Amino acid sequence: MELTPDVEWILGRPNFWCAPIAHRLVKLGLATIKPHAEEEQAYVLHWLLSLHEKHGATFRAEADKILNTKHPFTGDGGEPCKKCGRLQAALIHDFAGDGDCVK
Ligand SMILES: [Zn+2]
Repeated sequence: MELTPDVEWILGRPNFWCAPIAHRLVKLGLATIKPHAEEEQAYVLHWLLSLHEKHGATFRAEADKILNTKHPFTGDGGEPCKKCGRLQAALIHDFAGDGDCVK
């Protein structure tokens, strides 16, 4: 695997950035991840690398399409940011992990 800017970006995601995405995938029933920072980070990095391998440059949009899916039974759409209203667990939001919206 070549270390392109996208691959470098994925592999550089810190664990606190990965946590809300891992929680969202578990809540949607798409993943089983133990609630440990290391396992959440490993799962999310692998998930993003797989999306990148499949979709190339559009992997962020593909990830957000999945994360923004409403739960099929509960209709749960995820936790919105208190500042901007966007889904916290979305790549477009770039959640900083400390409750602050960075965009
Ligand atoms: Zn925000």
